[in-house]
Amino acid sequence: MLKRRIILFLSLLAIQQITAQEFTDEVKRFIAIDTTVVAIKNVGLIDGKGTSILDGQTIVLKKDKIVAIGKGNNIEIPENALIIDGTNKTVIPGLVMLHEHLFYTKFFENWFSVGQMTFSFPRLYLAGGVTTMRTAGSIQPQSDLNVKQWIIEGKMTGPKMDVTSPFIEREGLPIAELGFIKDTKEVSEIVNFWANRGVTSFKLYNNITKEDMKVCIEEAHNRGMKVTGHLCSVTYEEASNLGIDNLEHGFMAASDFMDDKEENICDPFSARNSITDEPIDGEKINRLIDILIKNGTTITTTPNVFEPWTDREMIPGGGEKAVTPEVLKDVKEIYDGASGKDSLYLVRFNKNLAWLKRFYDKGGKLVAGTDPTGAGRTVAGYGNRRTIEILSEAGFPLVDVIKICTLNGATYLEQQDDIGTLEVGKTADLVLIDGDLRTDIKNIRNMEIVFKDGIGFDSKKLFESVHGKVGLN
Ligand SMILES: [Zn+2]
Repeated sequence: MLKRRIILFLSLLAIQQITAQEFTDEVKRFIAIDTTVVAIKNVGLIDGKGTSILDGQTIVLKKDKIVAIGKGNNIEIPENALIIDGTNKTVIPGLVMLHEHLFYTKFFENWFSVGQMTFSFPRLYLAGGVTTMRTAGSIQPQSDLNVKQWIIEGKMTGPKMDVTSPFIEREGLPIAELGFIKDTKEVSEIVNFWANRGVTSFKLYNNITKEDMKVCIEEAHNRGMKVTGHLCSVTYEEASNLGIDNLEHGFMAASDFMDDKEENICDPFSARNSITDEPIDGEKINRLIDILIKNGTTITTTPNVFEPWTDREMIPGGGEKAVTPEVLKDVKEIYDGASGKDSLYLVRFNKNLAWLKRFYDKGGKLVAGTDPTGAGRTVAGYGNRRTIEILSEAGFPLVDVIKICTLNGATYLEQQDDIGTLEVGKTADLVLIDGDLRTDIKNIRNMEIVFKDGIGFDSKKLFESVHGKVGLN
């Protein structure tokens, strides 16, 4: 006991001595490259701006910045540089994804429940190429804020984080991890309480009223912060007209297509049926798309969490080995039960992607995220890679897919001058991938090194370190 206490005391001392740019041994074991100057030569480069893919490029990183990019022969490589041969490899900007909870589905009888994944998820996000994320709703905001801070201080391994408030919700869904308000005045209290503690965005949920939303938007905007919503009781059109910044889950949470929508009331089954019934080129969807674009409302797509079952991976993106066996058993049971019976899921899944493509092509602001919940088939890191595959399979050109998952996220977070693209002067957040994404989008699963602020993390090591832990920690 005494020995343990001494070790604890010594390790506390060690932690206190950490300064910026230093890392504890906990973090160091995942660092593959921490050289001051790094040059990746002869690499395929997707810059995140949505334009072209360039071959035979050289990119030079110095400390935490990108200092040179260009065709091989035109770039002078500093003498002291660590040189990485990028032949048959690709670099993309670090992913900036915006629906990245630090929690995961935990099954209990017929309850829907989620558990905090304080340790496994930050590592998995970084392993999956995410260098900046927004949580889009917290169940343990105090933990999320600590994780964010400890990552900054070099004590934990994970992406840079924008921590979103706890879900602002009224009684309805029987999810014990949610807090329920009874009165609109509680919305102001929540916004101010959490804004004062480091939360930088707010999340509205299924059963709030328009008045709740109005107050939340006002209070958040007064502080220069943004509001997003996974809606149901309030339609997308109403929310967009009230000035909400962001709508979650593509069009899957829209109640705008219902004929009998009651004000401020959520009827999830009727809303879902109305999506099934809305024609692919329907009048209502086209009108809604125009309104959202006119108002500048951003949509987050989270396709992995809606992925149909039949003939698809149990944990899309290859995440089965990450999940603890006891939880995986529950996931499998649901998966086996739903496989072969999901034709309407498939209809809605494809329709939503087609609508998002139309929204994007007409100039709509589209960002992406995972939402690691659902029936346990969306896992941090694996889900981020899978999201890129799904968007690509849905017909988005590769350069646009990467832009949606990098620059668009950065722009939403108002960090586009610093992150989101590969350009000289920007922060050295980038992912080195083995293979060419043009030949096979599934090469996105072959991430080797994820550079965050110029420090190269070993993707494989990070993934392996939490094999069998998701669902537990
Ligand atoms: Zn979510």
